[in-house]
Amino acid sequence: MARRKQIYEGKAKVIFEGPEPGTLVQYFKDDATAFNNKKKGTITGKGVLNNRISEYLMMKLEEIGIPTHFVRRLNMREQLVKEVEIIPVEVVVRNIAAGSISERFAIPEGTRLPRSIVEYYYKNDQLGDPLISEEHITGFGWAAIHEVDEMLNMALRVNDYLSGMFLGIGIKLVDFKVEFGRLFHENGDIQVILADELSPDNCRLWDAKTNEKMDKDRFRRDMGGVEEAYQEVARRLGILPESGPADQQGPSTLQ
Ligand code: UDP
Repeated sequence: MARRKQIYEGKAKVIFEGPEPGTLVQYFKDDATAFNNKKKGTITGKGVLNNRISEYLMMKLEEIGIPTHFVRRLNMREQLVKEVEIIPVEVVVRNIAAGSISERFAIPEGTRLPRSIVEYYYKNDQLGDPLISEEHITGFGWAAIHEVDEMLNMALRVNDYLSGMFLGIGIKLVDFKVEFGRLFHENGDIQVILADELSPDNCRLWDAKTNEKMDKDRFRRDMGGVEEAYQEVARRLGILPESGPADQQGPSTLQ
């Protein structure tokens, strides 16, 4: 097969031209970064696991009517997605204080928040992804008011659905980050859909009983057992054969 043309290389993924117009191929790398690129490393097998985990979660979200860019998984590390124009806003939803919110407001990590809190960050590595308000998003023209409303509604639905789903497999969804993109339909309609990925790279996942971290914080904080934690998430989701991250079967539905 002819080599695909690379369109973009990010920190954890490479984007290639897709096989047909309006599609892209997302390749998941094992590379990991943290603290705005200051910490770099590799997590063996992460790309394979995130490809599977993101496929599974996006498919589940499609089932409840949340539009996503996911089309189908192509192989161990690649998935076919719809081409969108990424909105440069990271939407973070938090249920339990951890990471930057704990530092900013001196709330001990692990404190359940009075209600789910949504934050927006401007997606800009040079600026270190600054925290922004809806006023910045609409004022600077990064998204229209109705698009912000759609992103907010979808992010909250993702949170409700995933919180319940993870709790069912003994995992607390502490917080997560999602990104959205504009899908340009042939009839001229523009639709805001969920894009990027959903994986332990951009969610905080804690074991419901022990509060053990099962996400990228293990890498950020040099805790070790990073691969094992990602594998355990996949195993509990029912998408990892007991023997390891072999590419043997498609995702199975949870009992
Ligand atoms: N997050 C992310 N990408 C970023 C920043 C944050 O995926 O560039 C995720 C992170 O994994 C966590 C949530 O968003 O699940 C909230 O992150 P936080 O603001 O606490 O930042 P951090 O402590 O990771 O710097």
